[in-house]
Amino acid sequence: MRLSAAILTVEFTALALVVVFAMGSSAPDGRTVRDVLLIVGLGLLHTEIARGVEQIRRRVNGEVHVNLGSVWFFAAIVLLPPIYAVLCTFVIHLHLWLRSARPRNPVFKHLFSSATMVLTCLATSGVIEAVTAEGAGGRWDLHVLALGVLVFLTVNTALVAGVIAVNSPQADVASIVGEWDENLLEIATLCLGALTAAALAVNPWLVVFVFPPLLVLHRAVLVRHLEVAASTDGKTGLLNAAAWHTQAERELRRAERRSGPRAVLVIDLDHFKDVNDTHGHLAGDRVLAAVADTLRAEVRDRDLVGRFGGEEFVVLLGALGEPGAGTGEMQVVAERIRARIAELRVEMPTADGPLTVAGLSASVGCSLYPDDGRELRELLQVADTALYAAKRAGRNVVRMGVQPTAPQPRAAENSTPGRRYGV
Ligand code: GH3
Ligand code: MG
Ligand code: MG
Repeated sequence: MRLSAAILTVEFTALALVVVFAMGSSAPDGRTVRDVLLIVGLGLLHTEIARGVEQIRRRVNGEVHVNLGSVWFFAAIVLLPPIYAVLCTFVIHLHLWLRSARPRNPVFKHLFSSATMVLTCLATSGVIEAVTAEGAGGRWDLHVLALGVLVFLTVNTALVAGVIAVNSPQADVASIVGEWDENLLEIATLCLGALTAAALAVNPWLVVFVFPPLLVLHRAVLVRHLEVAASTDGKTGLLNAAAWHTQAERELRRAERRSGPRAVLVIDLDHFKDVNDTHGHLAGDRVLAAVADTLRAEVRDRDLVGRFGGEEFVVLLGALGEPGAGTGEMQVVAERIRARIAELRVEMPTADGPLTVAGLSASVGCSLYPDDGRELRELLQVADTALYAAKRAGRNVVRMGVQPTAPQPRAAENSTPGRRYGV
């Protein structure tokens, strides 16, 4: 409800401002008509040329956040009166949507994203007009263009972030403001837009030089998405086993340089086969995703959470305070994870109505760097043996660093007898 109100407010504000600007603007001169046609033509050409790469990007990444069309939107803002800049943006954006791979964004999403673009255009145009009108120099001054880039980025991010924040008040800063490299990419795109505007003002043929860097930028974005996809487990969004190994090795090498213990937790859901047998694999998959969310929520952003395969997860806890304090901290985190999984209630719709799976539990085996080993292989072996000790102890318990050769596992505190999951 709050979300639709926020979206409608953005859309109506954009529409109202377009009407106001359209009524207040004069008929275009020859130069304006030429620039509108050039920018729209180039924008459409860009979409067509980049379609192949963009379709792969959508397949890999699902939703595409960064819009390289901003090159043309920003060039239009610099070169044209506000209402004509809005016109170019609207047409290029519409064409981009119509030509994007299926499934397309639904109409309401496209309208919202158009409205944010229109408001961004008008705000950036307005600021550029204001500073140049006050005699702060022409629009080709470095600081005017830099200010334009800043306003474009800020207004666009603020509008989208506002709606995300209304939609999910507990969303973290990265998902609200966007990842750092996404913002860098947007800045690179806008810089190219400023150069495009300058090229168009001097000699439209110079725009030929814009296309190669623009297409390389598309490839750079694609490579980044492919990297993320190759290191992510599709079912849970966690790191996959290979990526977790690579990043955990890197973290241990870092640990050699900077002191402070690290910990490895191996977490295996108890009797998970029963969930599948009772409710089917799809329900099992939902449970795995919910457990993954729980793990992510219970550790810090810089800790590494991975899915090792099946219903087995692995966590590397980064620097755990002072040497000597590590064991206690590791135990607290492991115990908290165990308790959260035991409290988990996973709700899901099914053909027979809503289903709640509860009464889950997990066994956790832990090892500590450097006490249980300095190599990842050793740490995993110790944690794995501890996990089996936890299973043997009745499940739903945490076991600390059990050396593979040790005859008796050390008992963990707060252990509770294992139990089968229930509904
Ligand atoms: P234990 O307490 O000894 O760990 O018992 P368990 O049933 O959890 O362990 P077991 O190794 O016998 O079975 C693991 C089950 O996990 C079997 C398999 O059906 C299920 N599983 C593995 N991967 C997936 C998956 O991706 N999705 C679903 N739904 N189930 C999976
Ligand atoms: Mg299991
Ligand atoms: Mg298992």
